[in-house]
Amino acid sequence: MSFYYKFANMYSDNKFNCFICKADLVYAESEMLKCHECGKEFEENVKCENDHFICNKCHSKSANELILDYCSASESINPFLMAEELMSDPRVKMHGPEHHFLVPAVLITAYCNKTSNKSKIEKLKTAKKRAAHILGGFCGFYGNCGAAVGTGIFISIITSATPMSMKSWSLANRSTAGALMTIAETGGPRCCKRSTYIALLDSVKFLRKNLSIKLESVPKIQCSYSKYNKECIKHACDFYKPEYLYI
Ligand SMILES: [Zn+2]
Ligand SMILES: [Zn+2]
Repeated sequence: MSFYYKFANMYSDNKFNCFICKADLVYAESEMLKCHECGKEFEENVKCENDHFICNKCHSKSANELILDYCSASESINPFLMAEELMSDPRVKMHGPEHHFLVPAVLITAYCNKTSNKSKIEKLKTAKKRAAHILGGFCGFYGNCGAAVGTGIFISIITSATPMSMKSWSLANRSTAGALMTIAETGGPRCCKRSTYIALLDSVKFLRKNLSIKLESVPKIQCSYSKYNKECIKHACDFYKPEYLYI
């Protein structure tokens, strides 16, 4: 099953369906239900047709909290599949600064899982704090797409770079520069999905070349978000999949 087919069906026009499987919600007699995200039990009367239940607290999480919790629990070494699963959640919008955290978060997760690094959660929290300074619209207003900066945050954190470092300082800046150049060459207008895919592809290559660490990838990225993006450049984007090919 390809990367695309696995996730195309997870995304639905209806933002009120189950966050997990997108099935319709059903209302019934109150019963004790276990939250799919936090595992706590609540007496509730709404779940989806496939018995998924998410408690109110988890339901109202911000996108960045969702990314932090998801990545903290994940054992994946595939940043692309993690990104896609997170982006299919309605709490992550079509465009938005949450992508500036999403990029380093899935990279840190895959890296720490691959190298059995024990400080994954600490690293994720650091990335969340740093990414919070990269505001929405950074791409057009500052000439510095936040997805590209996300790869720099990733390299900076895993190499413990500081403003005083030598080699790691260079690596972190080169990482951002490489991803930013590829994103810039594709041209505007902004698309947080396209920039995220490019940043991840670039970063996985960078990591293999410079630090000899190979993360899992996907054979081909095919975007299923075009219909949510008024400014989609369609055939000019490497990841575009025409809607008639959706399954
Ligand atoms: Zn469900
Ligand atoms: Zn919960």
